Amino acid sequence: MEDIISPKSLVDPFGRTVDYIRVSVTDRCDFRCVYCMAEQMTFLPKAELLSLEELEQVCRNFIALGTRKIRLTGGEPLVRRNIMQLIRNLGDEVRAGNLDEVTITTNGSQLNKMADELMDCGVKRLNISIDTLDPGKFRKITRWGDLDKVLEGLTAAKKAGLAIKLNAVALKGVNESDLGDMVAWAGDQGFDMTVIEVMPMGDIGNENRVDQYLPLSQVRADLSERFTLTDSAHQSPGPARYVTVEETGRRLGFITPMTHNFCESCNRVRVTCTGQLYMCLGQDDNADLAKALRSGGEDGLREAIIEAIGRKPKGHDFIISRRAPAASVSRHMNVTGG
Ligand code: SAM
Ligand code: SF4
Repeated sequence: MEDIISPKSLVDPFGRTVDYIRVSVTDRCDFRCVYCMAEQMTFLPKAELLSLEELEQVCRNFIALGTRKIRLTGGEPLVRRNIMQLIRNLGDEVRAGNLDEVTITTNGSQLNKMADELMDCGVKRLNISIDTLDPGKFRKITRWGDLDKVLEGLTAAKKAGLAIKLNAVALKGVNESDLGDMVAWAGDQGFDMTVIEVMPMGDIGNENRVDQYLPLSQVRADLSERFTLTDSAHQSPGPARYVTVEETGRRLGFITPMTHNFCESCNRVRVTCTGQLYMCLGQDDNADLAKALRSGGEDGLREAIIEAIGRKPKGHDFIISRRAPAASVSRHMNVTGG
């Protein structure tokens, strides 16, 4: 590999250092959450998927270019066959000091059987997505999910010693009234929690984002009637802004892509399971790392990464309105991961 073309860190045209990648290891999922997918989904052709070895090559080359944190996501990352091998190898990079951490965003459905091994592989933290603690509503939101199974997974993960943060997407008139109980429950369990605004990504069939969208300013106002929320200086590598819930002592994050543009501090890019590098979650421009790797080897791969970071856009232009009901970007969240 030529060192001349390999800087030690990736810096975009706006001076932001990119040291965090999110890798969607599969676009497939065992749930069909109403804000994420249509019930009848067409997934990417299997033949186009990067092999696990290729995904690892991509990760290793990002690490060589200064990446310090990798989050595996999807789709449901834990349903990809043999995924543990990739996780273990990335865990070894953490042990060797080449990476600060490898984390996973999961719907929790596989954790009952996988939590211990994840811990053993060197994963220390998980984001687990749960939008409600009401089993009926959970089924309605996820269409195919079983809350009991997810809660068993959570218990297994906690027992294994993994730190857990809950992710909940705020949905108008659906889980709006449950978020307070979730904050209290997360506190009892010793979990931090993040609430997320629905983002206009991909066609979701009969569901309508205008109906789903609930601004987090409203959620925060509602939660403030029950809890004392104190602004916190805590910074995560992600886009959330945090408060401390004084009654529980836990952190509560708000991810507000719609009401508050968080792009100025963006430090991350996203790789799909077919090897497309998206420099922004909310834009369509991408670079074909699969092609670069397969035709140019690791030199070609690094060159393609460096070139792509050089055109990372300033930010996204998400809009949800009745006048513009179509998705702002056509791909679904499961393609680029959360
Ligand atoms: N399947 C895993 C899960 O659900 O955690 C990982 C992938 S999922 C795409 C990652 C995160 O994105 C989840 O927390 C999910 O709730 C969130 N998400 C999915 N579609 C979304 C959308 N349109 N707007 C906002 N968040 C979304
Ligand atoms: Fe699957 Fe996660 Fe999307 Fe739900 S949010 S359908 S669990 S990828």
